[in-house]
Amino acid sequence: AKGNGKNNFQFYNSGWNEIILRKMKIENEIRKAIDQNQFTLVYQPKVELKSGKIVGMEALIRWEHPELGFISPVEFIPIAEEIGLIVPLGEWVLKTACKQNKAWQEVGLPLLCVAVNVSVRQLQHSDFVKTVSKVLRETGLSAKYLELEITESVMQNIEESTVVLNELRSIGIWTALDDFGKGYSSLHILKELPIDTIKIDKSFVDDVANPKSESMIKSIIDIALNFNLNVIAEGIEHEYQSKVLMENKCSFGQGYHYSKPLNAVEFEMLLRKQSDI
Ligand code: C2E
Ligand code: CA
Ligand code: CA
Ligand code: CA
Repeated sequence: AKGNGKNNFQFYNSGWNEIILRKMKIENEIRKAIDQNQFTLVYQPKVELKSGKIVGMEALIRWEHPELGFISPVEFIPIAEEIGLIVPLGEWVLKTACKQNKAWQEVGLPLLCVAVNVSVRQLQHSDFVKTVSKVLRETGLSAKYLELEITESVMQNIEESTVVLNELRSIGIWTALDDFGKGYSSLHILKELPIDTIKIDKSFVDDVANPKSESMIKSIIDIALNFNLNVIAEGIEHEYQSKVLMENKCSFGQGYHYSKPLNAVEFEMLLRKQSDI
C-alpha cells in the first residue's frame, strides 16, 4: 500500500516532473550543442515597406536537437541566460552572423547591416565590448554593418548599460531597442539610453486595425522621430498593416508578409534575385 501511495504521488506530480526534467535536459544539452554544431542561424529580411526591398537582416538562432527535435529559442534562450551559457552561445551567434555577412559582402552582394539579438546578461558581462571588437576584427566585418538588438531588461542596470552602449557607439556599431512599447519603461529608456533605432513590438502591429492601437502606433512613431531615432515595425503579416504603418510615417518593417526567417542559402538566393546578381 505504501508503494502504491508513492506511485500515486508521482502520478499526481508528473506534469511538474516532466517540466523540470525537460529543463534539466536542455541545460545539459546546451553545453554539448555548441561543440556539436547543433545550432544554426536563420536570417529574416528587414525591408523598406513601400518597395519591399531588403535593407538589412536579423539573425535568429535555431536548434535542432538529435533526439528532442526542434527547440524554440523562446524555450532555450531563457535557460541559457539562467545558467550563464548565453555568454558563449551569444558569442557563437555574433561570430557566425558577422562571418556570414562578410562572406555575402565579399561575393559582391549589397552591403547590408546584420542585426544580432543580445541578452542583458551578455551586455553586462565585463568582456562584452572586447568580445564584439574581437569578432569584428577576426571576421573582417566593418562595425557599421553590425547592429545589436537589446530589450528594456537592460534598464535593470542603467548606468552600466549606458557606458556599454556608448562604447559600442564609439566603435560604430548600431543599436536597436527590441519589443518597443511592450514593457513599462519604454519612454524612460528613450530618455536615458543612447540607441539608434526602435523596433515597434508585434503586439501593436497585430492590433493595428483597432483605432486605439493605430493612435498608439502613431504616437510611438512621432516620439521616435522627434528623438531622431529610426523606426522599424516587427511582425507584419498583412498588407493592411504595412499600409497603416506607412501612413503613420514608419518606413521599414519585418514580418511574414515579406519573408519568414530563411537559412543562409535561401537568404542569399533572395538577395541575388533582388539585386540582379
Ligand atoms: P525577437 O527578437 O522579438 O524576434 C522576433 C521573433 O518573431 C522571431 O521568433 C521571428 O521568427 C518571429 N517573427 C518574425 N516575423 C513574424 C511574423 O510576421 N509573425 C510571427 N508570428 N512571428 C514573426 P524566433 O526566431 O522564434 O525568436 C524568438 C525570440 O527568441 C526572439 O524574439 C529573441 O528574443 C530570442 N532570440 C532568437 N534568436 C536569438 C539569439 O541569437 N540571441 C538571443 N539572445 N535571443 C534570441
Ligand atoms: Ca530581435
Ligand atoms: Ca522583437
Ligand atoms: Ca522578444
